[in-house]
Amino acid sequence: MKTIRPHNIVIVGAGIAGIACALALSKELSPFVPDLQITIYERHDILSTSGGAINLTPVAQRHLAQLGVLDELDRMGPEGGADVDAIELFSMRSGRSIGSIDFTDHKGEGYGGYKGRRVMRIILSVAMLTVVERTHNVEIVFGKKVVGGEEFDDSVVLKFQDGTEAISDLVIGCDGVHSAVRTQFVDADRPAEYTGLSFLQATIERDSLSSRIHFKSSSLNISRHGSILASYCDRDCDQIFAAAIVQFSQESLSRYRLEPGQDRATQHRIRCALREEIWGRFGKCGIPCIREIIESKADWMLYPVYQVRPGGRWCTNRAILLGDAAHAMPPRDESASYALDDAILFARILARYRSEPLAEVFDAYESLRRDTINHAFKESRRMWERNREMGLFEGRLKEWMMSFHLKSHESEREAAWEFDANKMALPTPAPSEDLVSLNSFLRGRTL
Ligand SMILES: Cc1cc2nc3c(=O)[nH]c(=O)nc-3n(C[C@H](O)[C@H](O)[C@H](O)COP(=O)(O)OP(=O)(O)OC[C@H]3O[C@@H](n4cnc5c(N)ncnc54)[C@H](O)[C@@H]3O)c2cc1C
Repeated sequence: MKTIRPHNIVIVGAGIAGIACALALSKELSPFVPDLQITIYERHDILSTSGGAINLTPVAQRHLAQLGVLDELDRMGPEGGADVDAIELFSMRSGRSIGSIDFTDHKGEGYGGYKGRRVMRIILSVAMLTVVERTHNVEIVFGKKVVGGEEFDDSVVLKFQDGTEAISDLVIGCDGVHSAVRTQFVDADRPAEYTGLSFLQATIERDSLSSRIHFKSSSLNISRHGSILASYCDRDCDQIFAAAIVQFSQESLSRYRLEPGQDRATQHRIRCALREEIWGRFGKCGIPCIREIIESKADWMLYPVYQVRPGGRWCTNRAILLGDAAHAMPPRDESASYALDDAILFARILARYRSEPLAEVFDAYESLRRDTINHAFKESRRMWERNREMGLFEGRLKEWMMSFHLKSHESEREAAWEFDANKMALPTPAPSEDLVSLNSFLRGRTL
């Protein structure tokens, strides 16, 4: 296969993986590829404001810091997110503490200086976009939905919904769980699957609640009907982000979906129905502030959670999938980290293998990522199983098991928070055939 050093790179999707990948590629490749041009194509006309708040683990924060994004978040003041030392777990039945997922060590310090943070997605996107704007060889083009493509020996042509096309040396599909790059040309047999669980999300003013807030910065409140996550999402702790994680059948999803163009009466009916759903499942909660959130007039939005089964293809000859496009898993407050790890590792490998065929770059990348992702997927599924509806006895067992699970996995989690994709050892390219024959020629001469 012909070796082409990629200098015209196209990324599909301006989400966490897409922007992180562009920034990491610019950092790693620019010294070797002076005419490097990276273009991100995003289907939305502007940054999407939907999606609520996201939890960033110490690993995610470390990687965002390396890409220059964390400084931008910090510059945004209180909106830049709430510090999260730990996600505390409580029983909704009794209010009892079950344990915690700690983002600090036993001295109360972050891992390598980084704790957790909960921030609104739109704020994170704005911070990432600000960094892109000052990166000379990265451009984002909005309003470009990829609908197909064709791959040739030395290029890839992407087709957009508006009838235009883009040609590049390399396509990186960072277009999320419903990825067109995956379904159109990398792995058509791996569509996204509904997990059977959904998030119902809302943001509530802290001052609108009269009950005592039972958590320091972030909490997961569990019951046999699912869980409710409640967390501050700004540094001044004025806003509480709440997300109910519940089992919903595929059929009931269409009943609750808010679509653009729906009349106000339909939207009002859906909002009331969602409030009733939450009330029906968690109305007997024993934690006063959670009960108040449930009883409030908050506008709950439904986010069905999809996954992409592990084990499929991640690449063709000139296209590769990163982030949720490759391996969307049920979120457990860490999936964004995997997208960031992917981006940084892939950029480092591409820079190191810049003189090798893309097939070798992709192989090297997969050799580093497959096992980690398969393991993470299995863990996420196991955590999510605990959110399905269960009986009284099973519910009590879940509380007990959760406490045990948190304790027994403590050291594994602590080790995971130390991960740094910039320090991970990379495989070395095999010497080329020319080099091998030169070496044996030289060896022959010395003998
Ligand atoms: C309800 C919910 C809550 C979550 N909470 C957390 C959390 O607290 N912590 C955490 O770490 N993770 C969380 N996750 C997971 C996390 O959001 C994802 O893992 C992460 O966003 C993946 O980033 P990505 O860039 O791969 O995909 P996305 O963020 O989905 O970005 C994909 C981008 O591609 C664009 N796009 C899609 N199709 C096309 C196309 N055809 N053409 C052009 N552009 C396209 C999209 O518009 C989007 O901008 C959550 C997920 C869900 C569903």
